[in-house]
Amino acid sequence: MMTNIPGYPRIGSQRELKKACENYWAGKISLEKLELTARLLRKEHWETLQQAGIDLIPSNDFSFYDQMLDMSMALGVIPARFQELRRSFANPQCLELYFAMARGYQKNGFDLTAVEMTKWFDTNYHYLVPEFDDSQTYGLQSNKSVTEFQEALQQGIRTKPVLIGPVTYILCGKIKKAELTHAALLQQLLPAYLELLAALRNAGADWIQLDEPCLVTDLDPADQLLYQQAYAAIREAFPELKLLLTTYFGALEDNTSLALSLPVNALHIDLVRAPEQLETILTDFPETMQLSLGVVDGRNIWKNDYTASLALINRAVQALGQERVILGTSCSLLHTPYNLDDETTLDPVIKQWMAFARQKVAEVVALKQIAAGDTTLLTANQQVMEQRKTAPGIHVPAVKARMAGITADDFARQRSFAERQPLQQQKLQLPLLPTTTIGSFPQTVEIRQLRSNLKKGYITVAQYDADISAAIREVISWQESLGLDVLVHGEFERNDMVEYFGEQLEGFLFTQNGWVQSYGSRCVKPPVIYGDVWRPQPMTVAWSQYAQSLTSKPVKGMLTGPVTILQWSFVRNDQPRMDTAFQIALAIRDEVKDLEDAGITIIQVDEPALREGLPLRKSQQDTYLRQAVDAFRLSVAPVQDTTQIHTHMCYAEFNNIIAHIAAMDADVITMETSRSQMELLEAFADFRYPNETGPGVYDIHSPRVPGVVEMSKLLHRAAALLPARNIWVNPDCGLKTRKWPETEQALRNMVQAAREVRKQL
Ligand code: GLN
Ligand code: ZN
Repeated sequence: MMTNIPGYPRIGSQRELKKACENYWAGKISLEKLELTARLLRKEHWETLQQAGIDLIPSNDFSFYDQMLDMSMALGVIPARFQELRRSFANPQCLELYFAMARGYQKNGFDLTAVEMTKWFDTNYHYLVPEFDDSQTYGLQSNKSVTEFQEALQQGIRTKPVLIGPVTYILCGKIKKAELTHAALLQQLLPAYLELLAALRNAGADWIQLDEPCLVTDLDPADQLLYQQAYAAIREAFPELKLLLTTYFGALEDNTSLALSLPVNALHIDLVRAPEQLETILTDFPETMQLSLGVVDGRNIWKNDYTASLALINRAVQALGQERVILGTSCSLLHTPYNLDDETTLDPVIKQWMAFARQKVAEVVALKQIAAGDTTLLTANQQVMEQRKTAPGIHVPAVKARMAGITADDFARQRSFAERQPLQQQKLQLPLLPTTTIGSFPQTVEIRQLRSNLKKGYITVAQYDADISAAIREVISWQESLGLDVLVHGEFERNDMVEYFGEQLEGFLFTQNGWVQSYGSRCVKPPVIYGDVWRPQPMTVAWSQYAQSLTSKPVKGMLTGPVTILQWSFVRNDQPRMDTAFQIALAIRDEVKDLEDAGITIIQVDEPALREGLPLRKSQQDTYLRQAVDAFRLSVAPVQDTTQIHTHMCYAEFNNIIAHIAAMDADVITMETSRSQMELLEAFADFRYPNETGPGVYDIHSPRVPGVVEMSKLLHRAAALLPARNIWVNPDCGLKTRKWPETEQALRNMVQAAREVRKQL
């Protein structure tokens, strides 16, 4: 039985690559220094995998920014706007062009916007979207994968180069050329792929991993055909290459027979997400193929349950024989942190249940030994699994009892929105087109310093509280002077909208070094939800109450919603994800109630990640959305009808999910719309969305100050689509990444725009 790792993290266990890239971009280190850092990281990763005893060790899983961008560079998929810049470089494969595409380029007379970025399937990793346009001629342009293969070979390791497969590469891209079909594009790109494969073969590669996660998504017949064409062409050109077709993040389902019909040597499947697919796949598994079982979870941080994995392995071995079975992680380990051994402050009991990338590699090898009869490893693992089931803090009877006692009434406000609206208006007395902001204000160096000083113990809690209070005082009177109608306290006490709540809830823990790449050099350190979630005491009430005491205008209470907290954490895998979401919802519900009792009349529960959790398969989306909406409703429903509930979402394609957004029944939803010129609102208009909306009138992602006229226009556009009495005026999102001067000007203009449009309506 061979062992296989589809990919390893690359950012460095101490985020060396992040730091080197950022220093290089800042002109602080040379290109040679950056490349040296990268080489050392690759060397270390290959060594780690070799020493662990892995057979199929990946190469080209390294990337300076993103693996999709690497493919674009390799194949010559350079967007038209970068062509001139490219010609200006002596070496067209240079990193400078690569980074320009990743980050935009504003020098030497160029002003080029970066390539679009979007989420990689259902992960929190973002890739750079290939743009296919008229200006391109495809062909092998970068020898990165070959160089890295040779580099490893010199180290004595014959790696398995990893490439994004042609169909997934095309389907994840954007066609910007009139009438270009996927089929035609494949014909244009295939020669470049074949060149790339030839170069790898000539360098001595025998196994090649082709990642095709699109095989776990809904494919239309034309796209299914692409698979047959692409793989037939590759096979024909390279009868001797061993192709490892790699799928992850879900089940092949209706694409099973397609995948099994492709002329490849091995198929990798995700048995963590979809263990049930093993039986179907084994039924018709071609005799010529090997099967790589992704049994160790590449997306989460829990120790593998060897007993469960062993059952799958044994089943596959029984059907195929040992030689045709390969063991591996479910997907690339890119989505997990490096090394649990680096964590020195974790509760030792909980730490025993966890595994990061390094440990997962060892698990794959251990499973091979266990399958060969090593019972000691198995018994030890069984003990840990047993202990996790019953350890204190995992299953809290009071939480379980409360979950069991949830009834349909707990999800609903007392009256319908139509009845609530006049009651709220009577209480809040807001003008037409009320103005507000989304919550956070600029996080200055001083504010960040304050939090970090408290954490490090440099200042006392009393000092910290006094300084945060002062910041709140200042920002409340500042908002009053600007003439905003609904104020916020500014979120100065929060480093992050999930971590802030996780730190105050039971059932969460935080790692020191559990970083995973989000995009480019950006990493996130998600909290770990290990047990039942509950709220020992109020989390935000004191600050909100204080802010409200300073003004007669309403100050919004500001919370993060249950689905967003779930989406941006490593979630326990011993109960359904949505059970955990509901537990978080109950904790938020308590907070909502306490805010109301403390005199807060408007409460905003942010759900920017609600849509992120959408399953890849359409057939599962409705169930997810219903449950996600329920979790939101559970968290906000207990308030009186006079209390106004807001929610906030960043840019999202609402078109297909508008009915679910409406089912959330928030009194007000604020969202990002300015970049699309209110296009998003059309879906709301078509649906006759009944509740109030705050379509963002300015983009907070850039320092640019929008003018009164441009915002007035957007407001008129909104008022043409929805009843004016249902429209709020606000920026796209929170302002924490902005500076004060631009924020002040922009909000002044925004208030002015609202005043003018009010008179015109
Ligand atoms: N209330 C949060 C803020 O203003 C919302 C952030 C978000 O939508 N991502 O920062
Ligand atoms: Zn937002």
